[in-house]
Amino acid sequence: MKKETVVSIVRVEGAIGDAVSKATKLIGGLSGRIKPGDKVLIKPNFIREEPSVVGTTTNFEIIKRVVELVREAGGHPVVGEASGNQYDTEEIYELLGLREALDGVEVRDLDRDEIVGVKIQGATNLKEVGVARSALEADYIISLPVLKTHMSTGTTLGMKNMMGVLPQREKWKMHMSGLHYALVDLNRLVKPNLVIVDGIVGMEGMGPTIGSPVEMNLILAGEDVVAVDTVGSAVMGFSADEVKHLQLAGQARLGINELKQIEIRGEDLEAVSRPFKRPFGGKAILIWAQLQYRLGTFLLSRYDYDIRPFLKKFSDLYVAKPKVNPERCVSCDQCVATCPRQALELMGHVRIDYAKCGRCFLCMRTCPQKVFTMSRKPTWWLRISSR
Ligand code: SF4
Ligand code: SF4
Repeated sequence: MKKETVVSIVRVEGAIGDAVSKATKLIGGLSGRIKPGDKVLIKPNFIREEPSVVGTTTNFEIIKRVVELVREAGGHPVVGEASGNQYDTEEIYELLGLREALDGVEVRDLDRDEIVGVKIQGATNLKEVGVARSALEADYIISLPVLKTHMSTGTTLGMKNMMGVLPQREKWKMHMSGLHYALVDLNRLVKPNLVIVDGIVGMEGMGPTIGSPVEMNLILAGEDVVAVDTVGSAVMGFSADEVKHLQLAGQARLGINELKQIEIRGEDLEAVSRPFKRPFGGKAILIWAQLQYRLGTFLLSRYDYDIRPFLKKFSDLYVAKPKVNPERCVSCDQCVATCPRQALELMGHVRIDYAKCGRCFLCMRTCPQKVFTMSRKPTWWLRISSR
């Protein structure tokens, strides 16, 4: 039986860029899809200021290879994001060093882009929304989500990643409009032409910002965002029936949400799948988010009080920090030499000065003994427990 769409799954065994090229080639490549002179918006996930090694944001190497592929096809790549509700996108770019890493590539903060009000044809809930002009004017959109669970929506992949073309207040509107329905409406307007999923390090549990990293070493790619999200969800052990916006997207004929209709090229789906820990809360968190944004809107309009700094303080409590497993350390000094903030010291084993640590996780990537892990516990606790 002929399948309706194709999704590729590739294991990252060597260079990340090579896996991205292979995943893209398996679905037919980019040339012919992108025309010379096309404006191509590359939309990664920079929801908060945490590096890809802890499963929160898109790996820079994926973005770099996608930029190369777009240029090879003759397109003009622009990387753009408007990060999570309480975060400042430009600050995140700076903390992660995105602009330096993508030297020579146009990078835009979509929160500070010109915002255009648009009516969405056929929308059921989100009938009108303000969208970054860069997204509306793009000839081709490439979404680069991370393989993650989500407290409100079960999983978050290509469809959900498109919330990053909306400024913060419009994201609130999405939550207040019924998030699953609003996601389908948003994707009627700005549906990505191609989705490449960063499944190198995913996030399980309380994703998309305070969950735990899961090493998967996968890249997924496909042109049908609903199909890619269906396969990505299956990789994490979720059926499309468990993810309401995938059900709704199928009903709205936005794409294919039935695995049997999707041709999978590359790795075998079952062989690469690994059940992710489920986020707890579900509907309760969905309702809590709605209340939070309703309150935020009320306080802002009535008292000109912005609740985002308060929300940011709350989420900062759970920011990812490196943690030391002292018994594994062989005092080789490699991490100490690599740390850009001189936050590491060898005293019997390596110790972290959390007051200096910038949470770049370079130490975790450097250490050959896997001494460092990620923790979201308070620093006072980590200081005691790492002794
Ligand atoms: S200890 Fe140094 S290398 Fe490790 S996360 Fe902190 S700043 Fe980065
Ligand atoms: S690189 Fe690893 S083993 Fe070497 S000193 Fe650092 S923590 Fe210890």
